[in-house]
Amino acid sequence: MTNPSLLILPGDGIGPEVMAEVRRIIDWFGDRLGLTFDVSEDLVGGAAYDAHGTPLTDATMSRAQEVDAVLLGAVGGPKYDVLDFSVKPERGLLRLRKEMDLFANLRPAQCFDALADFSSLKRDVVAGLDIMIVRELTSGVYFGEPRGIIEEGNERVGINTQRYTESEIDRVACAAFELAMKRGRKLCSMEKANVMESGVLWREVVTRVGADYPDVELSHMYADAGAMQLTRWPKQFDVIVTDNLFGDLLSDLAAMLTGSLGMLPSASLGAPMANGRPKALYEPVHGSAPDIAGQGKANPIACILSFAMALRYSFDMGDEATRVEKAVERVLADGHRTADLLGEEGRAPLSTSEMGDAVIAAL
Ligand code: ATP
Ligand code: MG
Repeated sequence: MTNPSLLILPGDGIGPEVMAEVRRIIDWFGDRLGLTFDVSEDLVGGAAYDAHGTPLTDATMSRAQEVDAVLLGAVGGPKYDVLDFSVKPERGLLRLRKEMDLFANLRPAQCFDALADFSSLKRDVVAGLDIMIVRELTSGVYFGEPRGIIEEGNERVGINTQRYTESEIDRVACAAFELAMKRGRKLCSMEKANVMESGVLWREVVTRVGADYPDVELSHMYADAGAMQLTRWPKQFDVIVTDNLFGDLLSDLAAMLTGSLGMLPSASLGAPMANGRPKALYEPVHGSAPDIAGQGKANPIACILSFAMALRYSFDMGDEATRVEKAVERVLADGHRTADLLGEEGRAPLSTSEMGDAVIAAL
């Protein structure tokens, strides 16, 4: 049997620093558990631009299409702000998402008990929170035509179009139901069917898909009410599925329920490959953090948890994923903190690699 294959794209800023800790965990899996991955590493973003004059080469793109999963650090930085839009670092990531057709963006919002005081809400509202937001990523108002700024009479008009086809809704709904089956078997779909035609169709298609998942309890909510409920009592949710624009807002909102940006992983999934598992790209939610890059301060946990998601969703290694997540939970419970998790406390923070040490020790 061939080893599972993983393409690592560390990228820019703190990307390579946090990814180095994931590589150590991958080595640990090989040495201690005999689980060996076929790992290749390549450039993306500004790093690729510096080497090749493009934020993503065709060779890297084809490799990404072949592997079981892609793990990305972060792209971008002030150095590249002057570049033409066509070669900006972010374009490398956009090309990956587009050509791999990653239509379902998964953002877990999980609140580790030890960090519950970092939330913008009260401790009892968020402690133990574990929800998953599934955002449609490749359609909707971000891409719908017509769009643009046109002249109308003596003024200009800005136009965007919210547009969803049945098949676009169907595939993201299926992804969300499949996830719900593996979790708490509860799915809440959010749209604005009261004022938007795309929302009416969304609700209809999600309901239809739900007929194939009788074990999942399906509910519908208007997205504005959903935002309210997410801040009032977020533990009522398990999986939430929503469109591109509402998902952008709701996943950022959910992120703040859990505290630090340095803790949040994400996955973007596409259509199933020959092995039955979806095309997939995993990355921390945070960016390249130019303000702390190169200082060994970055929190590697978001990237480590992104790898855990890869174990679960691309490699069918749910137990190993849980093992990594439990190690992180343990490290936090034991009081280990990088600078971003310290708040007002007077302790000396751990460096990126010391946090990596702690996670490996806990493993
Ligand atoms: P992007 O445009 O790429 O999303 P951004 O400017 O929105 O980037 P980040 O690069 O994520 O945001 O940084 C936002 C803030 O959070 C910065 O102050 C950064 O130092 C901090 N930060 C982000 N990630 C981490 C991390 N892993 N560890 C510690 N601090 C982090
Ligand atoms: Mg940002």
